[in-house]
Parts: sequence; structure tokens; C-alpha cells
Amino acid sequence: MIDLKTLTIKKALKQMEEGTLTSVDLAKAYLAEVEKKNPEINAYREVYSDVLEQAAEADKKRKEGYIEELLGIPFSIKDNITIKGRIAGAASKILENYVAPYDATAILKLKAAGAIFIGRTNMDEFAMGGSTENSAYGPTKNPHDTSRVAGGSSGGSIASVAMDGALASLGSDTGGSVRQPASFCGVVGFKPTYGRVSRHGLMAMGSSLDVIGVVSKTVEDAEIVFNVIKGGDSRDAMSLSDSEVSAALAARELPQTLRVGIMPEMLTMGGINPAVLENFKASIEVLKNAGVEIKEISMPHISYSLAVYYVVMPAEVSSNMARFDGIKYGEKKEGDNLLGNYLNTRGELLGREVRRRIMLGTYVLSAGYADQYYNKANIVRGLIREDFEKAFKEVDVVLTPTAPTPAFKIGEKTDDPIQMYLEDIFTVTANLVGVPAISIPSGKTVVDGKELPLGIQFMAPHMREDILFAIGKKFE
Ligand code: GLN
Repeated sequence: MIDLKTLTIKKALKQMEEGTLTSVDLAKAYLAEVEKKNPEINAYREVYSDVLEQAAEADKKRKEGYIEELLGIPFSIKDNITIKGRIAGAASKILENYVAPYDATAILKLKAAGAIFIGRTNMDEFAMGGSTENSAYGPTKNPHDTSRVAGGSSGGSIASVAMDGALASLGSDTGGSVRQPASFCGVVGFKPTYGRVSRHGLMAMGSSLDVIGVVSKTVEDAEIVFNVIKGGDSRDAMSLSDSEVSAALAARELPQTLRVGIMPEMLTMGGINPAVLENFKASIEVLKNAGVEIKEISMPHISYSLAVYYVVMPAEVSSNMARFDGIKYGEKKEGDNLLGNYLNTRGELLGREVRRRIMLGTYVLSAGYADQYYNKANIVRGLIREDFEKAFKEVDVVLTPTAPTPAFKIGEKTDDPIQMYLEDIFTVTANLVGVPAISIPSGKTVVDGKELPLGIQFMAPHMREDILFAIGKKFE
């Protein structure tokens, strides 16, 4: 019996190298868990029929002497990242049968590293949401308490790892979609610096915010996967070149004693669950005991992050979603004329939240309002960025809770978008500024007799993922 609960990429690779584990055995073990749990959890939209063939191929390669970095490791992939020849549906009716014509760059890299794919995972439609309840195919349930959400939008990816249905997963993070569900489900969720992982093959949501992220059980595993998928890519105009990254790494040595910044004013804001606050304070003590220096910092503009995000993101959403017109991609609903086609296609095949954001975004960009909303939001975004630049002169990382609450009940926030948006209060800033961030399990709280995981978030300067991995391992 393989103990999937404690298995990591690191351990699985070691066992496969030693010959005590095969990729086929591993794949069979995960498939058995998926068969048992997925009907209730709804983490996977589709489990591929050729998983065992992929695993056998990996085992064959290993026998032939190949030793790629992820040879035979089973991944799940969010439904908005393309794998050539497979459906990429973004959990939307409009792309229900859309077969991807090419591999995302991150997928190409995973393939080259020998990874195998178990299936594609459920998500909020087009990644818009924080609970997976905006999927056109029902919510993903939290493996720790199935009356609660897994979080979102990468809820399926996170739940697949948390329920032992995959060893790792790729998700996307535009405002917290990898980190928030990771904190709800007790796994590691890592968002790289904007531009460090190519967006080629990731369906665009907010183009100045989007990045592919990693879901894993440990910080070390996140680092292993990141090292495979990162890198400059001519197919993504915002991709950071390898020389830019080297320069950033050379600019600042990893200090002996890491300095962690906390914002006391943030903790007195309303709306943070008391268990989250308590856990955050306990986490600070853990860090102190691990020999980390805690420093109080101030970021006066960070309280505007959520408002800025919910102007900038829908603006970008409204332009990105224009391509789904029933002609270029996916499904179509006929009308009497061209406008009728558009209205029927978009009105019937896109969900409520997606349509809400298209309308909000169109509004904040429209003539007469752009100055008041979109342009102003961009100015404030610049001020938040300056706050970070100043803070990172004093500290190496900034620490916050990942989410203001533990996993909430399914249906609890669906009628109140503002309540749902408030869940993103700690995560959106890293996307606005483009810095890397990681959510790490920090303990549990008991709600209604069930143990629910909590997480804390570290943010580091641009391109300094190495600092996140260093502090993350210390904290773990
Ligand atoms: N919950 C956030 C939103 O609804 C983040 C989504 C994401 O990162 N894709 O926009």
C-alpha cells in the first residue's frame, strides 16, 4: 500500500529511482482515490482515459535510463490551461467541447520533465470567483468538510491534491485563486512573480494579473515544480527574461536572519475571523522561535487593494471575454442576426458572475467614467507598488493571513458578491504589484465539530521566489 497522505514529489521520485515504486502503481493508487472521492468532492471535471498508458510510458523511460525531474509524477491541471488534443473548458458551457489545439508552455515543460496527467479540474467559470460555486458544473466540496467550499477559483486543483487525487497540480492565480483555496484545504499554494511562468496557453482573465501557480503538499515540492515550469518565453510578451531574473537575484543576497514584516493596522480591520487572527499571532511566534526577525511595517495604501482590484480586473476581463462571441471559439447559440447571435451565445452560455464582470468592466472603461474608475485605480495601483518597494527596503518578506476566514459553507455567500469579493482582501495585492506569494498551512480551527485548515501568506520582492521557499521551509 502506498501511503498517499504523506507522499511528496520528492519521496515519490526517490522511491521510483530506487525501484520500490512505479509510476503505474502510483497512478493506480491515485485513480482509486479519485474513483472513491470524486463523485462527492467534484474536484475533477474529467479523468483522462489514458492515465495508465502515460504512467507505463514513464516507467519504460526510467528503465531506459531517463531521469527527468518529474518523471512519472501524476498531476491534475486546471480546466483553463491547455493540453493539446484535450478539452479545455474553463468550467464554462461556452467551451464545453473545446479541444485545445496546442500545449500551454507550462504543460510543454511538464511533459518534457516526464510528468503525467490524471485529468482536468473544476474551477469557477473562467477563474472568476473564490469558491468554485461559479462553475457551470457544480461546486467543488472541501475534503475536510463537504458542506463547505474548497475555495476558488482553482478549487478543483486544490481539492484534487488535498483528497489525494493527484500529487500536485497547476492552477491559475489572478487575485488569489491558488492561495485562498490552498488555505481552505490545507495544502501549499504558490503564485510566482508575474511573468516568471509563461501565460501562453492559460486562458486570459486579467492580463496584467494572471499567472500560473503550483499546488503541492510541501514548499519543497512547489519549488521542484516551479523550477520546471518557470522561464522566459517569446510567446508571452510580459514574460521575464532569464537575464532580468539573474540580475534581480544578484542584487540582493539572502540574509542570514530573514526579516518578516507585519502590518499591525491590518489586523485591527473588521471582518477577520477571530480564529484566523489567533492563528496568525501563533504563526508569528512559530517564526520567532525559528530564528526569524519580526518587524512592524506600514503600507498606507494597501487598504485600497481590493477596490483597485475590482476595477482593474473586470476592465481586463471585459476585453478578454470579447473573443467568446460564438464565432471564434466554442459553442454558439443562433439568433435572428449577428447581434442576436452574440446576445444568445453570451447570454445563455456564460454564467451570471462572468456576465456581471463583463458589465462592470465595460462600465469602468466607458467614456466619461474611465477617468473616475479605471485610470484612478491604476494610479492607486502605482501607490501600492511604491508601498511595497519601501517595505522591501526594511524586510525580506511580508506576512499576512491568506484569507480572512476558514472555508465557508456552500451557498453562504453566493447571493452577496461583495461578501465573496471580501475573501480576496489579503491575496489581490500580490497580483496588483506582481510579486510572488505563497500560502502555507498554519494549523486548524474547529468549526461545528470539524477541523478546518488555515493558512498564512508570505510575499517577497519581484523574482525572489527563493526567499519564499527559504522562509516557507523554515515555517513548515
Ligand atoms: N477570487 C478572486 C476573483 O474572484 C480571484 C480569482 C482568481 O485569482 N482567478 O477574482
